[in-house]
Amino acid sequence: MILKDKVAIITGGARGIGREIALVFAKEGCSIVLCDVNTDALAATRKEIEALGRQCMTGVVDVTKPDQVDSFIQKTLDKFGKIDILVNNAGITKDTLLVRMSEADWDAVLGVNLKGAFLCAKAVSKVMMKQRDGRIVNMASIIGIVGNAGQANYAASKGGLIALTKTIAKELASRNVRVNAIAPGFIQTDMTAKLPENVKSEMLKQIPMSKLGTANDVANLALFLVSDSSAYITGQVITVDGGMVM
Ligand code: NDP
Repeated sequence: MILKDKVAIITGGARGIGREIALVFAKEGCSIVLCDVNTDALAATRKEIEALGRQCMTGVVDVTKPDQVDSFIQKTLDKFGKIDILVNNAGITKDTLLVRMSEADWDAVLGVNLKGAFLCAKAVSKVMMKQRDGRIVNMASIIGIVGNAGQANYAASKGGLIALTKTIAKELASRNVRVNAIAPGFIQTDMTAKLPENVKSEMLKQIPMSKLGTANDVANLALFLVSDSSAYITGQVITVDGGMVM
């Protein structure tokens, strides 16, 4: 098992891509710590992980709230005594064109997608630096690389997350903490299910592999990035997008 006896925190891990990462890590022997705001989905995913014979701790935590993040990290340490892996996966969209975008929608998306990742990485990096060991994976997006009309807030948050990834990779490398980002393309989840059909068919035309990705495609890359197979890789942004951005 690739992650035997490791402890991983996954934000937004109750459903979608985060849930799939949790299940893939658990199958590899990892204890799972999920924080999310979706109480029902948290309970359901916890059951699935425990059915695999792994420990699972959950917390209803809003990643934009520093006090909630800090106390959850402390609870994780109290229970497991270490944190090997952080996956900053929690993310939201509030799409509209720039001229119609409210300040509230800008703040909400930047808050969860960028500030949330900053708060979690800051709290966890203190632990990982002391341990002289750790791996952080940030869930960016190809939209943070190429932009997208109607997603100014989302694109800015994911572009910022890529810059954050590279910066903290440089700060933490000497302490044996590796930090990388995944930039998924168009993945089949609830987030993309709510897109209008005309937007979906336009996006499909731009994918050389002519199909959507799955949460499992993303989770397998996350597994590689937190495993020893990627021991000399840090500060990178890797796309999982069927060739959309190349
Ligand atoms: P989902 O919306 O399916 O799941 C996101 C989870 O995060 C939900 O459980 C959600 O709770 C939770 N969440 C929302 N806000 C917070 C918060 N403040 N604190 C803690 N948890 C929160 O998203 P996906 O699985 O589709 O996406 C996961 C990540 O991957 C995101 O960062 C997204 O931007 C990124 N991504 C996704 C792509 C895709 O095609 N799906 C493409 C590129 C990137 P609730 O259920 O209440 O909303």
